[in-house]
Amino acid sequence: MKIYNTLTGKKQEFKPIEEGKIKMYACGITVSGEAHIGHAYQALIYDVIRKFLEKIGYEVTYARNYTDVDDKIIAKSNETGIPADKYALMMIKNIDKQMERLKVGEPNVWIKATQCIDDIIGFINQLIEKGHAYPTEKGDVYFSVDSFPSYGRLSHRNLEDAMNGVRVDNDESKKNPLDFALWKSAKQGEPSWASPWGEGRPGWHIECSAMNKKAFGDRIDIHGGGRDLIFPHHENEIAQTEALTGKPFVNYWIHNGLIKVNGQKMSKSLGNSLLLKDLMDKYSPETVKFALLSTNYRGDINVTDNLFPDAEKHLVEFYKVFALAKEKGVEIDGEYKQIDDKFNDAMSDDFNTALALSDLFSHFKTAKNAILSGDEKAGCMLNQIKKTYSLLGLFEENAEEFIKKYQKVEKVQAPKEVIDVAEQRLKARAEKDWAKSDELRAVINQMGYDIKDSKDGYTLTKKQ
Ligand SMILES: [Zn+2]
Repeated sequence: MKIYNTLTGKKQEFKPIEEGKIKMYACGITVSGEAHIGHAYQALIYDVIRKFLEKIGYEVTYARNYTDVDDKIIAKSNETGIPADKYALMMIKNIDKQMERLKVGEPNVWIKATQCIDDIIGFINQLIEKGHAYPTEKGDVYFSVDSFPSYGRLSHRNLEDAMNGVRVDNDESKKNPLDFALWKSAKQGEPSWASPWGEGRPGWHIECSAMNKKAFGDRIDIHGGGRDLIFPHHENEIAQTEALTGKPFVNYWIHNGLIKVNGQKMSKSLGNSLLLKDLMDKYSPETVKFALLSTNYRGDINVTDNLFPDAEKHLVEFYKVFALAKEKGVEIDGEYKQIDDKFNDAMSDDFNTALALSDLFSHFKTAKNAILSGDEKAGCMLNQIKKTYSLLGLFEENAEEFIKKYQKVEKVQAPKEVIDVAEQRLKARAEKDWAKSDELRAVINQMGYDIKDSKDGYTLTKKQ
């Protein structure tokens, strides 16, 4: 099992800290709005990774967080007049519902930032005692990057590079402009908690360090998150945790690529955010998964106008093979080891879902030929595909229903003589002359077309 480790910049053979067990954490969602495709992608990737590690025999404990107090949530609360905690809870419910619809598995441990305020305060206290953090007169607490010499190790930058990478604020109470907030003193009207430094709330980075410590202790095997979190968020997590424990925090840092929409970064300010709910109203949840997993997790996903329609088309074609098997009375049962082996090979190479999915095209082609030639391996192959690819959340629908619901009937430019008959038939139907309507349908069929009635008239399709 090889994993690309951001820390070393290399694909490495995976070795857990404790034989047979894996502690895995992935940064979760800041619940300032509804789930968008980026959230879905991240949740999906780490769920798939977890499931594969379980498949190859590890006992995985997987934790994720919800950031439920933060500037953006407070801004939303002020905008809507809903108290910040209520607003966050509302969004969590909303996000959970969409993730459930996508059938993304739940982590073993879910932690909300506001549930571990005591742990966070304890963590910060110890960092102050060890000389890695300092409170200011205002009641903020900062981490001192100068106290942690290997700062920048994950993002492979030195302090000078890092300096160019941060928005340096003008807080003169900071010892180094790179020092980051562990605790933020309360502003008027903001949610706050009592602390040794006065009323305030935790900074974002400390949350993940404190939660990891709470859930797992000092060290974990795998830590995941979006590539945009490498600096400063994950760099800061390492600094906080290692400054406190003196032990290496994470053995394998995994970072997923980002979502682009027609080549552009997806962001709220550009107005091109794709909400998960809207996508699943339009496409099947399996289509969304198929499209998102068609790229290796480290690559960026470019959402073009064709990405989801193409994925859906492929899935419909695949489901048609299942439907054909049923039609021909093929019993879908048995095993077909090669399919599973190939899948495991692809996934063992840094979770290459793109390769695993591209294998499907030849599997289904072979299976279809086997059905048509009466080869009994067809049923085994299809059953194995179902079993193996359920790890990616695919082929769990009823084939006929999926095809019926998601097959797009393309309006074809039928020849004029066919349209003429269709128009006559439309007139006959308007006059409720059903006999004539049936007669004309037969004529259209003889001309090589199918006709389907719709609210605004009819659709002609070339007969298959
Ligand atoms: Zn985090």
